[in-house]
Amino acid sequence: MSKVILVLSDALRYDVAKENMGYLGHLVESKLANLYKIVGELPSMSRPMYETVHTGAPSSMHGIVANSIVRRSSMPNIFQAVSSAGKVTAATAYYWVSELYNSAPYDRIDDKETDDDSLAIQHGRFYTEDEYPDVELFAAAARLVRRFSPDYLLLHPMGMDYHGETFGSDSKEYRNHAIRQDMWLAPLIQEWIERGYTIMVTGDHGINKDGAHGGTTPEQREVPLFWIQPKIKGRGDTGEIVSHLQIAPTILSLLDVPIPETMKHPPVSFD
Ligand SMILES: [Zn+2]
Repeated sequence: MSKVILVLSDALRYDVAKENMGYLGHLVESKLANLYKIVGELPSMSRPMYETVHTGAPSSMHGIVANSIVRRSSMPNIFQAVSSAGKVTAATAYYWVSELYNSAPYDRIDDKETDDDSLAIQHGRFYTEDEYPDVELFAAAARLVRRFSPDYLLLHPMGMDYHGETFGSDSKEYRNHAIRQDMWLAPLIQEWIERGYTIMVTGDHGINKDGAHGGTTPEQREVPLFWIQPKIKGRGDTGEIVSHLQIAPTILSLLDVPIPETMKHPPVSFD
């Protein structure tokens, strides 16, 4: 059993992550991590994919088929399953995550910081502006880890999406931001490994050179899955393709939490 941190980097493309995230690349090269390609679920939109990642269900089943659907999740999900098992949940994330798992619509003041064991996300730190600095969000996540040792933490930065939508994916701004995220993550991942955490780094969708996503091209849907297991030798770049639908059951199985029947896809295999 291991505690888990999921870094869901909004609009982190597979190819850009592989080419520009050198610390993660080092872990893969040294077989201290596994790398898979995810051919993302559809539509390649944010709110539908937050729900797909957390429920292990496709959008046609969970019903969050567009960003405009503002309501709580109606399906079993990682936060609900982990907190129901008596474990500690936390998130530093865009406010849509608070709307899906804590309360909707989001109240910018009351919902900004939550420390409430009765909520699905017990310790939440949320933001509403797409240009909110990732480095501040990473620090907030690191603080939650030190303070509460959550069993499951979601770290959800918006910087790749913001730079991609503003400058397009074929831009120095988008690529350089991948380098920065990797640089900010490196010391945190080292600390979290020492604390015994399993860490996964993935994206909700990709983005194209027009700065758009929502469609079906590889640019819009292919994202990486880096998987780091403390003290367990990995396989490096596995060359394997896995599904967004496997993330939720994989995380629950790592946490030793029963997998709900609605999560029909098998956990990803590490070895
Ligand atoms: Zn997104």
